[in-house]
Amino acid sequence: MTNIIALEGVRKEFQLGASTIAALRGVDLELEKGRYYSIMGPSGSGKSTLLHILGCMDIPTKGKVWLNGRQVHTLDHRQRTRIRAQEIGFVFQAFHLNPILTALDNVAITLRFMGETRRSAREKAEYWLQRVRLGARISHHPAALSGGERQRVAIARAIAKNPSVILADEPTGNLDSKTGMDIVDILRDINQSEETTIIQVTHDHEVANKSDIVYTLRDGSIIDVIK
Ligand code: ADP
Ligand code: MG
Repeated sequence: MTNIIALEGVRKEFQLGASTIAALRGVDLELEKGRYYSIMGPSGSGKSTLLHILGCMDIPTKGKVWLNGRQVHTLDHRQRTRIRAQEIGFVFQAFHLNPILTALDNVAITLRFMGETRRSAREKAEYWLQRVRLGARISHHPAALSGGERQRVAIARAIAKNPSVILADEPTGNLDSKTGMDIVDILRDINQSEETTIIQVTHDHEVANKSDIVYTLRDGSIIDVIK
């Protein structure tokens, strides 16, 4: 089995005035390529902190992180930014689309930043918006789209650059349950067809049940794994 991400003894502390908060207290993880993971746990248990470390947005206070066989905890900010741009797609609870761009341009602009030509960026953006069944709405701005449609644009944007990992922090958190399950089905479809590793944080057991492996965090430690 190939690990796409591995964590060894990861500890993350935040300094808040005179006191130190330990958000992660020694996390070991081996995540395999092409699988679909969920992270659950109560508020404040360290889920977002863990996702930030998995996504190279932050580095641990202690411990080691590997992405695609490369140590990332030793890289500087600029190197991590580049790895993140190339290898990781993000999906957020609140969608984070650019309100002044159409659905098409929200997806295409990411590809332009990665150095694709205007034409190739447009073609890939159209392809992925069709794949998430938004083909008829590519010229709409986010304000003219429903929550579920906005999240589908965000998923198209995340996958269009062909990342090895998609990280999703509460991707269904702002959606009603039926729309949320549609979103999870799209993530599952992408996971299976593209072999993209997906790691999602969720509070919803029905959403978590669609993934292969569910980790539960409590007080900064993994207390349970369900396969
Ligand atoms: P979750 O996503 O499970 O709700 P978080 O990872 O956001 O949990 O937070 C875990 C703990 O770390 C909490 O006690 C939170 O207050 C603290 N924390 C997270 N980020 C910061 C930060 N930037 N500065 C200080 N404390 C933080
Ligand atoms: Mg959180």
